[in-house]
Amino acid sequence: MMDFTRYVATRLRALVTPQSEPIPGSAQVPNSAGGFAWALDNWSRLDRFLVLGTEGGTYYVRERELTVQNAGSVAECIAEDGPRVVRRIVEVSTGGRAPKNDPALFALAMAAGLGDEATRSAALAALPGVARTGTHLFHWLRYVGAFRGWGRGVRRAVAAWYTARPERDLAYQLLKYPQRDGWSHRDALRLAHPRPRNEVQRALFARTVARGPLGEAAADSPALDLARAVDVLYADPEMDPARAAALVRDARLTREMVPTPLLRHAVVWEALLQEMPLTALVRSLATLTRVGVLAPGSDAARSVAARLADGEALRRARVHPVQVLSALRTYAAGHGVRGRGSWTPVAQVVDALDAAFYLAFRAVEPTRKRMMLALDVSASMMTNVSGLEGLSCREASAAMALVTAATEPRHFFTAFTEGGYRSVHHGVTSGLVPLSISPRQRLDDVVRQVGTLPFGGTDCALPMIEAEKRRWAVDLFVVYTDSETWAGDVHPAQALRRYRERTGIPAKLAVVAMASNGFTIADPEDAGMLDVVGFDASAPQLIADFAR
Ligand code: CA
Repeated sequence: MMDFTRYVATRLRALVTPQSEPIPGSAQVPNSAGGFAWALDNWSRLDRFLVLGTEGGTYYVRERELTVQNAGSVAECIAEDGPRVVRRIVEVSTGGRAPKNDPALFALAMAAGLGDEATRSAALAALPGVARTGTHLFHWLRYVGAFRGWGRGVRRAVAAWYTARPERDLAYQLLKYPQRDGWSHRDALRLAHPRPRNEVQRALFARTVARGPLGEAAADSPALDLARAVDVLYADPEMDPARAAALVRDARLTREMVPTPLLRHAVVWEALLQEMPLTALVRSLATLTRVGVLAPGSDAARSVAARLADGEALRRARVHPVQVLSALRTYAAGHGVRGRGSWTPVAQVVDALDAAFYLAFRAVEPTRKRMMLALDVSASMMTNVSGLEGLSCREASAAMALVTAATEPRHFFTAFTEGGYRSVHHGVTSGLVPLSISPRQRLDDVVRQVGTLPFGGTDCALPMIEAEKRRWAVDLFVVYTDSETWAGDVHPAQALRRYRERTGIPAKLAVVAMASNGFTIADPEDAGMLDVVGFDASAPQLIADFAR
């Protein structure tokens, strides 16, 4: 029989279309890999941009073009409903949902420059919430200069950034990073010209603008004690380390406030460790080990492990799971990515980091649905997670999948790669293999294991096709991919519909997006398919809600 209905049918589920062609009657567009997928709407693309950024580009699109594309979507959203854009930025940024805050700061700068009056004032009002540190403020200032001049609005917003802060926090921000990335507090204060609200602010502003020590006449306050302690350290950077440590402890200084020569001493680091913010702690573990503060069985190792075990504190400090994963990989390896020395990792700390990764996500109630977690491990997934050194999308997606696996007892893992159950399309072999990884394994081991899988063509339909063939009962397919699918005789959405029809299971498909491109294999017309942004700290929660 010549099966004409293979090519022509008005009922979507009867259709079978190769991924190199669009599904007839659908709104599919060409993706970057020579296949067809759905174009993401601007608001979904805004979400992807806020969480994934564009640093490093994707396998198919260079950083420059990807950034221009994403900014285009942000601009269209601003034109459509600017205040909604600002609300979304605030939600993602203050919720600690993205590995980096820069995309949120950039989008906020766009809103402050390109929006209508209501949007611009909403964006400026949101500045202190999104730009929470001096570094954030400097980045925002850099970005906003691309879209507007300073004007009264920016001057007032920046002035308020300084004057609305509690005294000690103001001193802390001014002293922690006096300048970064081409901007300094001195520049910002001179341009914004904030009117100090009290003597303490006046003294701190004067010290910053004069780039000198604190004046004599200044009043007593913990904020000024902080500045005085920094002045004493800088007056004598070769002082007795024990004396420096006492100053650090009493004034609760951070590493950035201490002159470099003093950072050679373990006693100084011990003092710094006491009040070290969690994000700094996660980044400083290697140094703390190298200088000898963190040693097997030490008090410091015990207290660090205890701090990393506090999920509530991790989430409050907005420690992103992907940052923990990145820190775990580097720390457990025992040497820096760019040859920044070596150390012997302390097992207790490694284990604590491993547990902290799961704790950094909000706890998710198990749905007890049957889930297939399918990882795209093709070559295009080898690009780095935006801006994170040494962590590829496919490695990080394995870690994301482990979080769902840790809460869902009825899960199993597959990867589409070479070998296994094969489909051959235009001479390229794609396959689906069961993957033996488990949340009981240490994360960096899983990541290494997934990192060494052989590449294959990308056929995102294979999870559904193989599940149908092999009579695997699945309620939810979770596919971690960049949606650059092309190597298959049937589209994933068609394979899912066929799976539903043949098994009678109303199965769903969650697509976890690993690239800030504009494509998805989830059919927007089908309520049983959902596109979720990968590396969103809320992704496991969103997947569970969708499964229910
Ligand atoms: Ca691919």
